[in-house]
Amino acid sequence: MTTPYAPKRSLGQHFLAHSETARWIAGHGAINNQDTVIEIGPGTGILTEVLADTGARIFAIEKDVRLFPHLNKKFKNRKNVTIIEGDATRFPWETLIQKTHPAVLMGNLPYNVSTRILFELLFWTPLFRKWVFLFQKEVASRIYAKANDASYGALSVFVQSMTRPEGLGVLSPGDFKPPPKVYSELVGFSMKAVASPPIRDANFVKVVRTAFAHRRKMLRNNLKSLFPEHPSLLEHVLAESGIEGTRRAQSLSVEDFLRLTRIIKRAKG
Ligand code: SAM
Repeated sequence: MTTPYAPKRSLGQHFLAHSETARWIAGHGAINNQDTVIEIGPGTGILTEVLADTGARIFAIEKDVRLFPHLNKKFKNRKNVTIIEGDATRFPWETLIQKTHPAVLMGNLPYNVSTRILFELLFWTPLFRKWVFLFQKEVASRIYAKANDASYGALSVFVQSMTRPEGLGVLSPGDFKPPPKVYSELVGFSMKAVASPPIRDANFVKVVRTAFAHRRKMLRNNLKSLFPEHPSLLEHVLAESGIEGTRRAQSLSVEDFLRLTRIIKRAKG
């Protein structure tokens, strides 16, 4: 449909141009009529409509109130669709979803806040069965990159400590209206069952961020700021972790970071 107003770049409004693309995205959710599905940023409702056709319970969270008259009209007769005004960067997910019935979360995410939304969601993985999101291609590569890949960084480690991300296919600028300047990639995430979520451990977040603070620096030089009082402790920690201080953060796997965090916590008492 043509929108009755100018799409806002500040809200990352690049709408899907074709309903086949919406069907392709929705298909990756493997949704049935018993599911609860949450869509982030329904926009003009092209993906929402395909999701609604599955018979699942759909909640669509949209920030731009200008879209509400159109969305409310479009889904007036769809009893399974609820449009919610909200901001996905700080949404109270636990109020919408029961832990006993994990939801599927989907969206063609607003690119300017996609990593913020993703980081926030990592705190709530037990509420979800699956996520399927479109990202700017370069961001998608950072999400699923493995150790030693050029795109591997703190975002890859945080996301992979809580989920298993998988690239599902690339879309070109012409698949959107208006076309963005970049390619996009669909990423599917399954949730990892973790007894104590690393992302909720401030030590883990700090160790990873500090290790990647200066990507070209050796691990030893980045991590020394964690031991201002006892610089020699760092060498013990590295030795016990079996990680050479001359390595770069980029060469450490997620498991390496988890082990390193455990040993640093113990060493600091
Ligand atoms: N799903 C539609 C589609 O595929 O055509 C729209 C996708 S568009 C890339 C992103 C949508 O997210 C827009 O409708 C935008 O208004 C909305 N949005 C932007 N920031 C948001 C936020 N913080 N929370 C919820 N929705 C947001």
